[in-house]
Amino acid sequence: MAKTKIDKNEKKNSYYKKRRLPIRILMLTMLISAVGLIGLVVLSYNMDRLAQIYTNVVDNDYSNLDSLDSIKIEFYKHQTLLFQYMESIGDGLMIKELEESANSLRDDIFEEEEAFKKAVKGTYYENSLQTVYSELFDYFLDVERIFTFANDKDFDAAENYMHNMLFKSIDEVNDVVGLFDTLIDDDVNKTRQEMTNHLAVSRVFAIGLILLLTVLTCIGLVWSVIASREITNKDPLTQIDNMDKFQSDMDKLYKKNKLKDYVCVCSNIKDFTLVNQQLGSSVGDMALRNFANTVEHIIQKDERLARIGGDKFIAIVRKEHIDDFVAFIDRVPVTVDYHEEAKIIQIETRSGLYYIKEDDDPGTVVDDAHLALSQTKLKAVDKIVFEENMLEQAYDRRTLLMDYTNAIKQKEFVVYYQPKVNLENDTLCGCEALVRWWKDEEIVPPFKFIPILEEEGRVTELDYYVFERVCRDIRAWLDAGISPVRVSSNFSKLHLRNPEFADKVLKIVDRYKIDSEYLEIELTESSGYEDFDAFTNFVDKIRKRGIHISIDDFGTGYSSLSLLKKLDVDVIKIDKSFIDGIGIGDRMNENLVKNIILLIRDMDRQVICEGVESRNQADFLKEQNCNMVQGYLFDKPLPHDEFEERLKSPVYVRKLS
Ligand code: C2E
Ligand code: MG
Ligand code: MG
Repeated sequence: MAKTKIDKNEKKNSYYKKRRLPIRILMLTMLISAVGLIGLVVLSYNMDRLAQIYTNVVDNDYSNLDSLDSIKIEFYKHQTLLFQYMESIGDGLMIKELEESANSLRDDIFEEEEAFKKAVKGTYYENSLQTVYSELFDYFLDVERIFTFANDKDFDAAENYMHNMLFKSIDEVNDVVGLFDTLIDDDVNKTRQEMTNHLAVSRVFAIGLILLLTVLTCIGLVWSVIASREITNKDPLTQIDNMDKFQSDMDKLYKKNKLKDYVCVCSNIKDFTLVNQQLGSSVGDMALRNFANTVEHIIQKDERLARIGGDKFIAIVRKEHIDDFVAFIDRVPVTVDYHEEAKIIQIETRSGLYYIKEDDDPGTVVDDAHLALSQTKLKAVDKIVFEENMLEQAYDRRTLLMDYTNAIKQKEFVVYYQPKVNLENDTLCGCEALVRWWKDEEIVPPFKFIPILEEEGRVTELDYYVFERVCRDIRAWLDAGISPVRVSSNFSKLHLRNPEFADKVLKIVDRYKIDSEYLEIELTESSGYEDFDAFTNFVDKIRKRGIHISIDDFGTGYSSLSLLKKLDVDVIKIDKSFIDGIGIGDRMNENLVKNIILLIRDMDRQVICEGVESRNQADFLKEQNCNMVQGYLFDKPLPHDEFEERLKSPVYVRKLS
């Protein structure tokens, strides 16, 4: 329910609007351009047409119209005759005269047809002239009919026809004469002027349109470039600057020789995966956004903040302001919308700081702050200032990672076994497989490479390698008739991200046909809380096969006892740090251990203590009914052959320390 609401809000988020803005502007610009283009096509067609008419007018031979004057006079004469004839119908002489006048007028008119056509070609009158000629044609046909009636002495018919036909077309004839008048009267220059005006207007219109379009297109383009630059400079989720913008601002400060006044701070949010897992990624996104906005408000105008990605941020802060800044981001309360209710989350950060010196390259400044940040996790502190030796360490780290790939292939990793002892009879009751790296004729202990491999996500292949070695050794002991004990193998919490983790483990077990009673898998305490579901799935699958699961380093993580209770594990291993406080007069610690043991027993789990170094510690634990221990008091992790000897004679001779 809450998710839907948040999704809707996301859409309303100005980022989505802003993201669509350049596209909208571009579309608008394209629409304006398209309309303008159509306008231009229409205009250019119009201008073409005008130009054509103009050329015709200029080119036409208006002298061709000269004969119009005489035709018009003849026409009037002919019409006068026609009216006279109507008054004296039956007058033979009159008919003759009229016939001759009509014939000559018709011949003149039709003879001049081509000349007139040429004169008006391409002008407004072109079409009218055609009408005129067809009307004239009809008119002369009518006149001829009258003469035919008159020649046949049928004067009544002639008179009737004249009245019926001729008067009907008298208006048309007048139109014709009127047109002839216009043709004659119309000043060619006037037409020419008109055309020129048209052309001028069209030209101004066209230029105006082109200018308008150019301006609009430019505005649109500039606008869309600005809008898209805004977007390319912004981090899509938080709307604060992204790395590109951050780098370019750093470059500007560098060029002005001002970068030396700043500290570069690279920060990441602690346990942000937990927020995502427990509250959902939408709430996680909201938390990131609100965190970024809150921090952006406290940085000053000439300082910069950007998001690198994920839960990582970078800032350049003035040296005099850095302490306040780091103190502020150490813990930032942000409000999120969770199940339609406001919830406050405390965002805590880790920061790597680099105090920028004169002439420091902006690129390395970021790398160095980053490097300092990576050290915070290793050293479990919230803030580290970059030091030169970190570069060396980083180099060693890179070398280690390069060597590692080869070391797996070259089988440079060997498995040591550290016995677990039952305090009731001081006999071997199990062991833990611990990896060692035989590198350049020296043994490298795991603390030098496991944390790095874990951080780089590369430890998983080593865990499978070690587990396979363990299975192979157990198989060999079984085949040789030596009774093995239960061997526990360490697996990194990174495996829990892989849904095939359990299947891969079981595949190795099956390949060596190892009975589950000889196997145990150790996962550290904090493993489960990052992805509890994956953890329980794994535990279920493995336990179904009868293989034990233990929680390593109990007490070092941020345990939630209720979650631990839900986890169906077999063994809980109390961390060495608690055992160190036994037998040295630390009552509080001893009470704590006592109660932890009670609590674990209460949960129906087996308990084992690691790091037992003294007899006092062993006796204390025995008193608390914790009979399974592991530690230097009995043995350090032993190479394969030495451990094999322990298998053969599993009883320890009681040592006093
Ligand atoms: P861990 O799993 O908690 O292993 C116990 C560590 O405590 C071992 O260190 C062991 O040698 C040490 N230890 C046991 N008893 C005593 C004692 O009485 N005194 C002292 N001072 N130390 C004691 P080790 O072998 O150096 O291993 C360190 C850590 O490396 C292990 O802690 C485990 O987290 C990791 N590790 C070792 N092998 C593997 C592996 O194959 N895979 C993974 N993922 N981690 C491994
Ligand atoms: Mg362990
Ligand atoms: Mg441990």
